[in-house]
Amino acid sequence: MELEATITERRRQTRSNIYRHIHTATDFCSKQSLSNALSLSLPTVYQNLTELMEAGLVRYSGEQRSTGGRKAMGLEIVPDARYAVGISITENRLRFVAADLNLKELAYKKVYHEPVSEKSGFRAFLAEELERFLDENQLDREKLLGVGIALPAVFSPVAGNILLAPSLHLRDVTLQTLAGDLPYPTYFENDATSAGYAEWYTYGHQRDMAFLLLETGVGGAVLVNGGQYQGDNRRSGEFGHICVEAGGLPCRCGKSGCLEAYCSARRISDDLGIPLKEFFLGVSNHNSTYELLWDDMLRHLAIGVNSIRMVLDCDVVLGGFLTQYMEPYLPRLQEYAAAYNTFESDAGYLRLSKFRKHAVPLGVALHFVKEFIETI
Ligand SMILES: [Zn+2]
Repeated sequence: MELEATITERRRQTRSNIYRHIHTATDFCSKQSLSNALSLSLPTVYQNLTELMEAGLVRYSGEQRSTGGRKAMGLEIVPDARYAVGISITENRLRFVAADLNLKELAYKKVYHEPVSEKSGFRAFLAEELERFLDENQLDREKLLGVGIALPAVFSPVAGNILLAPSLHLRDVTLQTLAGDLPYPTYFENDATSAGYAEWYTYGHQRDMAFLLLETGVGGAVLVNGGQYQGDNRRSGEFGHICVEAGGLPCRCGKSGCLEAYCSARRISDDLGIPLKEFFLGVSNHNSTYELLWDDMLRHLAIGVNSIRMVLDCDVVLGGFLTQYMEPYLPRLQEYAAAYNTFESDAGYLRLSKFRKHAVPLGVALHFVKEFIETI
């Protein structure tokens, strides 16, 4: 029995290796290349591919390449064989993303609502909006792997509680109150951790990275030594509350001078009462009020970025929806950051995330995608 179990596990492992190889292949992938890369006999490759194709997980890509003799048929995974949903909860809006097995966005929707802390029946509202999102986009519930939910919150080590979520005005509430009873597997994660993890995973998780999330709030994640560094209280990477100006602007955490008070998207909407798009249009057209505010944001951001670099000495990556407008200003930000640095004359360690707009919901959906791929 034990031997049989071992054989079954070994067979599963082989099939899983084949699937993952096709999934991550950046070059042409064929039966022969699988056989070479994984040191498997051709008959073994054939048999596993047949199983994967019958399960609807792998298909011929349609591409053919001559490999000396006969033309070889290209292989690819079926990306929409399964999908996961990611939900980002912020103070007054929900963002839904459905992502396929390549983490490609299949559908997206945002829904505005009253502040979470004031809204009665939030849990039922969330469940209803999720069902509506699935219906509107004709997403097959049979293929749904699970629903990831990301919040700007510090969770208690014992799962099931939010200790503190300043931007949601919540303290000591259960996750059940916010999002209990969904009829799908669910997973909760801090929003910046989700987004940072997506970035790190997509880059092949080889390099250490500090991730800074710039959205309505400012958060972060530290991804070093092959995983997330959590800290003693699961508060590592709370970069939003680094003090960048002693006695400065009030922060929603109750202190003052925090990076979040200076560099969140909220500062633009609170100070000027305009959408981000309009703000950045104004900045590019040299509206002096907008330019002044943006330069102040960049200068404070540079202080925060340089502090992170000083502590961790690794890449610093900026993500979150604010960064979709930041590309033209990255050189200036790098220049400001470099000016604070004792050891480096440029800030080449600083870059923008691959996922700009929907990093948070995509990142939390990744939990189920990754789980599926690893256990296939
Ligand atoms: Zn703060």
